[in-house]
Amino acid sequence: MMKRAGYPFVFVERMGIATNSHQCGTLRFGADPKTSVLDPYCRAHDVENLYIVDSAFFPSSAAMNPALTIAAQALRVAEHLRGAELMSRLELMSRTEPIEPIEPTEPPQPTWPILPPSPG
Ligand SMILES: Cc1cc2nc3c(=O)[nH]c(=O)nc-3n(C[C@H](O)[C@H](O)[C@H](O)COP(=O)(O)OP(=O)(O)OC[C@H]3O[C@@H](n4cnc5c(N)ncnc54)[C@H](O)[C@@H]3O)c2cc1C
Repeated sequence: MMKRAGYPFVFVERMGIATNSHQCGTLRFGADPKTSVLDPYCRAHDVENLYIVDSAFFPSSAAMNPALTIAAQALRVAEHLRGAELMSRLELMSRTEPIEPIEPTEPPQPTWPILPPSPG
């Protein structure tokens, strides 16, 4: 990945479970649902209203400190969500047809037997 990004030298040092301060990449982000859990805005490919904006989104753990990148990505996703919310509000405001009222329905009845109150 780093070589593809243009870095001529890439040094790798694998760290074991004892070095657990930079856990990243448990729910990788990416455009392809076959190889990632989250989309590029950290929304789960499979669950429409689930966003995960912690260190899980990284494709892998870099050697360097991740906290600022986690915060930057969270801000980016928040900005995206705010934009999406604004768009849906504008869409609602621009509706010309009247909104049909929702008819009240009967509340669901319990399927278990209701016992009479115990005496005393
Ligand atoms: C000793 C140490 C030193 C580090 N030093 C640096 C550094 O100098 N620079 C740097 O960039 N990074 C550093 N890191 C890494 C950095 O702290 C983490 O990568 C970063 O905090 C991860 O952010 P996060 O939001 O994914 O998770 P966290 O910051 O771990 O946040 C997860 C939050 O979820 C909460 N939580 C967990 N389970 C539940 C639950 N079931 N219900 C509700 N809440 C829950 C936890 O209490 C926690 O507040 C260090 C890590 C360690 C351990």
